[in-house]
Amino acid sequence: MSYWKDIAVGGWSLVEGLAVTVKHLFRPVVTVQYPRRRNEIPEAFRGHIEFIKFKETGTHKCIACGSCEKICPSNVIKVQGEKTQAKGPKVATHYVIDFTRCSLCGLCVESCPTKTLRFSREYELAGTSRYDGVIDLMARLEQQKA
Ligand code: SF4
Ligand code: SF4
Repeated sequence: MSYWKDIAVGGWSLVEGLAVTVKHLFRPVVTVQYPRRRNEIPEAFRGHIEFIKFKETGTHKCIACGSCEKICPSNVIKVQGEKTQAKGPKVATHYVIDFTRCSLCGLCVESCPTKTLRFSREYELAGTSRYDGVIDLMARLEQQKA
């Protein structure tokens, strides 16, 4: 008896599965053919941090104050700067983050006094080593168009 019951249950399961397949056969396709087509990234998306390039100066406004470095709970920011004028503020010369340990908390962006940090729209990061997650913000700024 159990033998025939197993066959009936298996057959019914097959019919149910096929019904789902046939139902979706005539519905519009909802999957996106990435990478040929891409969805809009939501406004709230957070990629790794990057410098904003300001139109008036054509560069960032980082004064290497170290606020972001100190507030970062993951301790992944390293920033260095130098003074170009005796009385002026410092200018950042090195800015590196280890994105593999960043929690995207946003404290660095919020604490920046010159508002020169933002979250990038980058979502295609890949690497074969954990060091590939170390991002040089100065080099990245060079690649930015505007
Ligand atoms: S988003 Fe948070 S964890 Fe990531 S670098 Fe900024 S302060 Fe650090
Ligand atoms: S808080 Fe802003 S200005 Fe200060 S070091 Fe970080 S990015 Fe530069």
